[in-house]
Amino acid sequence: MNYPQNFQELIDCFKLLPGVGAKTAERYAFAILNLDEDKIKAFSESILNTKSKITTCPICGCLSDTNKCMICNDESRNSDILCVVENKKNVFIFEKLGVFRTKYHVLGGLISPMDGINPDDLSINKLIERIRKEKIKEIILALRPGVEGNTTSLYITKLLENEDVKVTQIAQGVPIGADMEFLDNLTLELALENRSEVS
Ligand SMILES: [Zn+2]
Repeated sequence: MNYPQNFQELIDCFKLLPGVGAKTAERYAFAILNLDEDKIKAFSESILNTKSKITTCPICGCLSDTNKCMICNDESRNSDILCVVENKKNVFIFEKLGVFRTKYHVLGGLISPMDGINPDDLSINKLIERIRKEKIKEIILALRPGVEGNTTSLYITKLLENEDVKVTQIAQGVPIGADMEFLDNLTLELALENRSEVS
């Protein structure tokens, strides 16, 4: 017997999420069935709000529910240094580890000609604009190790050759990306202390 249509629709919704297969989606749908109505209401509202109220910070490219994000608004942060990261999620992982007391710049990806991602697709021009406008003294490249990360680091470094800014990268060997969630703050702190200038 098939599930009633509305229930099947809920299962299909869960299947849209990464890592959720048919079985997990069914389990989630049954769990929803057991929630109180006010919880379900709050749940569906927060999904809608995520789409309608969460925007991208016009300065750093991170998630925001105000115009300028909380990090860009935080006056207590070091404003001489920018930590350059691949995506929005990385900002939050770094923030949880509490190591960077700087502001960020989200590139929105890494250069990967194989996947058709070129420098123009990333917010690299905006990074240069910020370096000039905000008089940034150092940028720390905290990109995923590997071909794409290296290509992107080299591209940015070359582009900044004639700018009055120091380009460093956190010590190699630090997993950034999928593995980063297993990173502890001591490892990252050491990687940050041992950052080296990119030549
Ligand atoms: Zn911001």
